[in-house]
Amino acid sequence: MIYQRSSQLFAEAEKVIPGGVNSPVRAFKGVGGTPLFAKSAKGAYLYDEDDNRLIDYINSWGPMILGHAYQPVVDAVIEKAKKGTSFGMPTELETKIAELAIAMVPNIDKIRFVNSGTEACMSAIRLARAYTKKDKIIKFSGCYHGHSDSFLIAAGSGLSTFGVPNSPGVTQGTAKDTLLAHYNDIENVKALFEANLNEIAAVIIEPVAGNMGCVPPKEGFLQALKEVCHNHNALLIFDEVMTGFRLAKGGAQELYGVNADIACFGKVIGGGLPVGAFAAREEIMNFLAPLGPVYQAGTLSGNPLAMAAGYAMLQALNSDVAIYDRLEAKTAYLHQGIEKVLKANNIVFTINRVGSMISVHFDANPVVDFQTAKNGDNDTFKKFFHGMLHEGVYIAPSAYETWFITDALTYEDLDITIEAVNKVAKTL
Ligand code: PMP
Repeated sequence: MIYQRSSQLFAEAEKVIPGGVNSPVRAFKGVGGTPLFAKSAKGAYLYDEDDNRLIDYINSWGPMILGHAYQPVVDAVIEKAKKGTSFGMPTELETKIAELAIAMVPNIDKIRFVNSGTEACMSAIRLARAYTKKDKIIKFSGCYHGHSDSFLIAAGSGLSTFGVPNSPGVTQGTAKDTLLAHYNDIENVKALFEANLNEIAAVIIEPVAGNMGCVPPKEGFLQALKEVCHNHNALLIFDEVMTGFRLAKGGAQELYGVNADIACFGKVIGGGLPVGAFAAREEIMNFLAPLGPVYQAGTLSGNPLAMAAGYAMLQALNSDVAIYDRLEAKTAYLHQGIEKVLKANNIVFTINRVGSMISVHFDANPVVDFQTAKNGDNDTFKKFFHGMLHEGVYIAPSAYETWFITDALTYEDLDITIEAVNKVAKTL
């Protein structure tokens, strides 16, 4: 495979954009080499600037559940664009998509649209703090909730360790209000609550983690979390930026039968346009300005193009009764296929999967939290990544990411992928 034009474009980009990219993980830092530049995409395939065709398992980091350039989304955006691209005024479509999202997701009365997952999570914790009149939040090591200051906190050691900023520019003042817990460890969460009595406003979690590879919640963990939050008058925030509208119509809340107090959504809603949202019961959402005291705003929030894309996307997901079964079946097929060939090639691995989120960890032990996710053999992953790329299969350029399966993938694509894994495994 030739990456000549991508390499040239990257060299040019590096002169004018820090690191040549507008979001760091795109830069292939974790795996080495230069990133591919996308030219176009359709369905399950991505075409780079050297005209290589790749089977895409990143799918814009999740949103393309129905494949790239999904026609109803494209048509909706084109039609809307002809009528103006932004008004800074309310539009009817915002109410329609809100009604639809509320009908699909359990346990929410009102929703507010923003422009990214970062904004959704950032606004959700502000709202939780105001609602509970407390300052601290608990997040889990290895969970990513966007790049706002409160969430850029590295894993500290010990139960009651205050967060340490893992990016310069995040002040100690902000970091001290973010407490870190171990994913899937309810005793750890309880201990944090005990050590910070009446100080914790909320626990925020990826109900299925997707940012340390895919890490499912242990049986009963989310329910227990809900109970602990309830006992301490803290809110439970589900960051469903990856899981929302993907694992089920109603996301992880529906899949696990656990009601969060606030749910955050992101990219999936926009079908590839910049959209996020957060939603909750009425008494919580009514704390937001202009009804309540919590300020939250956005010139481009509810943008007509984004809403048109989102409405087309949600309508498609809502009206296709078999979509989630198909996604499950395709991902299970891929899961079994990869498992078989990796075993046959004596590779040490663990596969984690929930619905259409799946990840391959190069470690024999169960991956249940950030610590165990970090045990994966990164050198093997790097070789695996480049080998797969060479075979025309594009997975995320980091061992800490999830593969996202789209309905546009055919079983033939899945077979090609499994055979690619087989070939690459022989080189590891
Ligand atoms: N939460 C989760 C779970 C995410 O995966 C992401 C992004 N990958 C975000 C929040 C932030 O979303 P955005 O990049 O749209 O700001």
